[in-house]
Amino acid sequence: MTDTPTWDWTLLRAGTLLLDGGSMFGIVPKTMWSQRIEPDDRNRITLQTNCVLLRNGNRTVLVETGCGDKWTDKARAMYGLESRCVIDALGEVGVSPDDIDRVIVTHLHFDHAGGLTRLNGDTPVPTFPNADIVVQAQEWRDANAGRSTMTGTYLREHLDPIADRLTLVDGAQEIEPGICVLPAPGHTWGQQAVCMDTADGTLCFPGDLMPTMHHLGAAWSCGYDMEPYQTKCTKTALFDRICDQGWLLVLDHEPGQAVHRLTRTERGWFALSDA
Ligand SMILES: [Zn+2]
Repeated sequence: MTDTPTWDWTLLRAGTLLLDGGSMFGIVPKTMWSQRIEPDDRNRITLQTNCVLLRNGNRTVLVETGCGDKWTDKARAMYGLESRCVIDALGEVGVSPDDIDRVIVTHLHFDHAGGLTRLNGDTPVPTFPNADIVVQAQEWRDANAGRSTMTGTYLREHLDPIADRLTLVDGAQEIEPGICVLPAPGHTWGQQAVCMDTADGTLCFPGDLMPTMHHLGAAWSCGYDMEPYQTKCTKTALFDRICDQGWLLVLDHEPGQAVHRLTRTERGWFALSDA
């Protein structure tokens, strides 16, 4: 992407959740992943829901929305959900949900699509009344058909209220000048990465292709993935491209340093945390 306007960007932290460490690391043995990240006494690890706010003086675009706030006490306890949500994170930088012109989500699992809606009384309504929602058409079809190994992740209350405000995309596409989506299949068939031209260079947000900095190895993927081998292939192609292009990587669930440069050696990719 060249000769396009750049965007000011802000990393937003839309709230933490706790998920089973084994599920987050798929086939990687606990003896290996627990050396990198220590689980709690219920084997859970802390994950953030990172989002990116993009502003160019004319348009305001949000990438990802986290879990939102439509959760029962029981679900909050089960997932260890922090009460904070994306509306709080936006408010801290002086942005109201009404200001958002467009939302792009990588996929529609609950920890990505939950923030697209909020409760008005008992009724879920769109959180961002002036925004359309950009998602791959494949992801929308799969979400509505419940095509997932998980039964509780594509939830009607996250999907139905936004059904009339979608911009469905097929494959790679420039969404705004300087903002592109790229297919990133594996975690879901319709997952997309988002690439953004900013004053700091191009940012790449690959969604659950690499949730935390501990998922850098080709085989370090989630047990939640629909196609783990596809994840490995997508990761190889995208990370090589990120290295070649010098893009910055922004991680969706990393609770610590979420922005990294990547470098490649004969032993694989390495993250440089000076970004
Ligand atoms: Zn997911």
